[in-house]
Amino acid sequence: MPDTTFADRAEQFLSDLMREQYQVGAGLKSTLELAPIYERNADLFADATVRERIAAMKRDESSKEARHLADFAVSSFIENAVKELSEQITNAELVAIVEWDEKQIPYQNVRSVLVREANMRRRHDLADKQIKVMVKQNPMRVQRIKAQHDLARNLGFGSYRAMIEQLRGWNLPELSKQLKPLFEETEDVYEENLERSLAAVRVPRKEAETSDVAFVLRAPQFDSIFPVSQLVPSFVKTMKGLGLEFASTPGLKLDTEDLPLKSPRAFCAPVRVPKEVYLVIKPIGGQDDYRALYHESGHAEHFSHIDETLPFALRYLGDEAISETFAFLFESLSFTPRWLVDVLRIPVREAENYRRFALFNKLWLLRRYVAKLQYELHLHDNGPARVDTDYRDILTDALHVKIPPERYLDDVDDAFYVAGYLRAWVFEVQLRRYLLERFGEGWYESIEAGKFLQSLWSVGLRDSVDEIARTRIGAEKLNATPLIEELIDL
Ligand SMILES: [Zn+2]
Repeated sequence: MPDTTFADRAEQFLSDLMREQYQVGAGLKSTLELAPIYERNADLFADATVRERIAAMKRDESSKEARHLADFAVSSFIENAVKELSEQITNAELVAIVEWDEKQIPYQNVRSVLVREANMRRRHDLADKQIKVMVKQNPMRVQRIKAQHDLARNLGFGSYRAMIEQLRGWNLPELSKQLKPLFEETEDVYEENLERSLAAVRVPRKEAETSDVAFVLRAPQFDSIFPVSQLVPSFVKTMKGLGLEFASTPGLKLDTEDLPLKSPRAFCAPVRVPKEVYLVIKPIGGQDDYRALYHESGHAEHFSHIDETLPFALRYLGDEAISETFAFLFESLSFTPRWLVDVLRIPVREAENYRRFALFNKLWLLRRYVAKLQYELHLHDNGPARVDTDYRDILTDALHVKIPPERYLDDVDDAFYVAGYLRAWVFEVQLRRYLLERFGEGWYESIEAGKFLQSLWSVGLRDSVDEIARTRIGAEKLNATPLIEELIDL
């Protein structure tokens, strides 16, 4: 298939997938029908097509377009090859039921019941029941991961990890090494905050499990700071402060319609980049709702400001960390005391309390993801046999609570997505520091800062976050020190 035909077809395919997901998530359609989209594009996933894309990448190693197209072709090829297994796992869990209090809870809803269960014994009981359902799909997960490893080698890559690194331009052991100091440097502050948080909900240290931390992090006491009535107005006001008026971004469509089938969680659907990007919300208020809206708005602003004349491969495909960086940047406003005081009008003391809580939440996530990267490198280099205890040990070391080894495959995203998040977490704090230094503490009220962000957004996914760090904010490279400094300022 000629390059331009492949790019045009791939763009149409992604756009169709995204439109389907948007319509179901927005409550406009009741069932997700992805199979017909895959079927009518079967030639995009043919063996010959994917090998052609890999060969094109190897012919011109300096071409980002060729690399991004190969990445898309390989990922879609592998996803298509394991889609029956993926569907079987998802469908088994969609229909699974957990018996609880003589009630039948859909497996999918157990998490939301867990984070609201105040009694530790009952919480642990329910978490055990949840694992009993999840573990039934582990044989299929083993099969799926082995298939991914075999496919990578059949395509001529040394290993699954080597494949991802080559397609993304990443060095994963290097990233893991760079983040390792995070454990030691945040150890005391993590331990102190964990201890205090668990004591506050009467969980003895020796019995603490991940469900207890999930309960602590649910923190309903903060929800009143984030009223539903202020969600959309605060957002419109904040964007206006950056000179980002909805009227001047015709591609960005804010969907606040209240439909019964609509997803309760905010999401961004870039159906056509930059001309049709949906930011979908069903306002319910509370800290999670604010965080989700601001996070997703970073994705939406990024996608809707990309230069439409860029080729598809640089407009739609590339380093996931880029879009996640802008998502984390806007999400960070929700725990910035100055923003909380100015925009939501809450007392300084309360804003400071919330900042500490949000940073503990972030620290938990960071320690978890750095450990997950370590474990996933081990999993993909050694295969899924007998690594469940390694999963438990690596995560227990990082998090200091009981980790169920049964989660060793369920807690893994495809293609080292964990690295995309980690790179974004690192770079976001570097970028935020730059904005603070250049535009001041109120950077989010500066039209000039907005213009600077738009100039970063316009080049789409052309430059990786390492390149943006070097060329746009005067940093030498990705550097985890600012992130660690933020985390220990708890
Ligand atoms: Zn995101």
